[in-house]
Amino acid sequence: MFTRLKKFQPYPSCSGFYIDYVSCNLGIFLCKECAVIHRSVGVHISLVKPLSSKSWHLSELNFLEKVGNMAARENYQKHLPLSYRRPTSLDPLVVREQWVRAKYEREEFSQPNRGSYRLGHKEGLLWKKDKHKATYKSRKFMLSGVDNCLMYFTKNPKKPKGKLNLFELNVTFCPAKMENPNGMQIVFYQKGEVRCIFVYAEEGQEIVSWYNAIRAAKLNAQLVAFPHETEAHLAAQVTWDFANEGWLQKSGPSASDPYRRRWFTMDRRHLMYFENPLDPTPRGMIFVGHRFDGFSVRRGVPPGYVQLPFGFTLITPNRRYLLFADNNEELARWFNVLDFVVETEPGPLDLPLSSRRSS
Ligand SMILES: [Zn+2]
Repeated sequence: MFTRLKKFQPYPSCSGFYIDYVSCNLGIFLCKECAVIHRSVGVHISLVKPLSSKSWHLSELNFLEKVGNMAARENYQKHLPLSYRRPTSLDPLVVREQWVRAKYEREEFSQPNRGSYRLGHKEGLLWKKDKHKATYKSRKFMLSGVDNCLMYFTKNPKKPKGKLNLFELNVTFCPAKMENPNGMQIVFYQKGEVRCIFVYAEEGQEIVSWYNAIRAAKLNAQLVAFPHETEAHLAAQVTWDFANEGWLQKSGPSASDPYRRRWFTMDRRHLMYFENPLDPTPRGMIFVGHRFDGFSVRRGVPPGYVQLPFGFTLITPNRRYLLFADNNEELARWFNVLDFVVETEPGPLDLPLSSRRSS
């Protein structure tokens, strides 16, 4: 039985490698991670069964052969907008869970006009972190596809406290950093400065809806601004996740400076560092250019400096940054991420933001 089914459907439709489960009522094949999510949404939506099961009804097998992942996708994703984030197995739980719920429970992508994120307009309340305190306040947010902006309000309901141009902002989920399963970071880039805003919604559906509404509105704006680009090409980079984040020790400009512990974020070609992970603005930013322009990364730090374990050196045309990870795993990750950036030619979106003074 196992072989018959495996032969018929060798790979899951997600980014997972192996099929270990099926959904009997949906007629699809699942990897382990997706099976956990399917189970959590309930048997009325998806009836999960391990492939290793010994008992199969002929009708179940026939149904699985008849539907399968391709036909199910045809049906359940017929009207899936290009701007909607398709999750991978590495995505936060809220994204993967809401994907399953949107697709099979609410059937948002089987119908042409379901899901408020398609409209390019959205307003509602989100919990927003205070700029300098660890407290969150309920704030009204408004997304306007007409004005290409995201606004938020404090006391005055008529006059926005912040008005962020969609071309200058990015959104990404950051549940671990915020210690909140529905945490989302809005990064705003303007005049060489970076501003981070941290928000969450009580419901997973709501935060994922905001995220996809912002993506949809931004993609629409980009389609108008860049008429020669294809929608698929623009959608692939309409928002982006950070290549890596974490604590590092960083040297000052001279050998006698003490090392400081900073929270580092690799945002496309900008390595930003913060005093604390949820700070509104970075202490500094290092533009990481191409190898041909004098950028490189090396393991270890030059002699004459205090030597700590797990060190590496980021070399830019102006300065050498001595950095130290907490362990070998993190060192390898930072090294690979930076090495990849250095070896990749900058694209039109990778222009340097003028960096602030570092410390
Ligand atoms: Zn999967």
